[in-house]
Amino acid sequence: MKGVTEGKITSSRGTIQERSIRVFNDDWGLFGILDCLELKKDKNGVEISAYNGKYTVSIVEYKISAPKNGKIRMEDRMQLLGQKICVDSLFSCDADTYFYYHDTRRRERVEFAEEDYIFLKKTLNEIREIKRNGHIPPIRKDQYCSGCSMKDICLPGKRGRI
Ligand code: SF4
Repeated sequence: MKGVTEGKITSSRGTIQERSIRVFNDDWGLFGILDCLELKKDKNGVEISAYNGKYTVSIVEYKISAPKNGKIRMEDRMQLLGQKICVDSLFSCDADTYFYYHDTRRRERVEFAEEDYIFLKKTLNEIREIKRNGHIPPIRKDQYCSGCSMKDICLPGKRGRI
């Protein structure tokens, strides 16, 4: 497939799931690995030459647990939006986006509006500015770090961070 590295592939009843797919978007300066890219055969979908046909494209991001208050965290939304920006540009599509919660075994669809794109762009600019200045930001009071895959590098509990 164009622009991605193939992961584990499973296929059933016209649906293909690829896992651990590397994606990127140079315009946004984004690079990452998707948990799951799902392709469903659909004559109105986008052409995927590697699979000889047209498919609708969905991104599924796995989370251990569903939000307790029912409200998806902004950080998680932005993670999924970053994935969508990469996938949409790589496949010239408008991918559907979902979280799958392991504890409830439910899939939840997420939609994005213009202001989400604006917020992500602003946040990425702020992150680049922080990197340029070599400034380590403090941890917010409501920062949720325990489930973060970066915590071994980020060391959120380190003296002076909180
Ligand atoms: S561990 Fe670091 S990167 Fe992860 S949520 Fe906490 S502050 Fe953010």
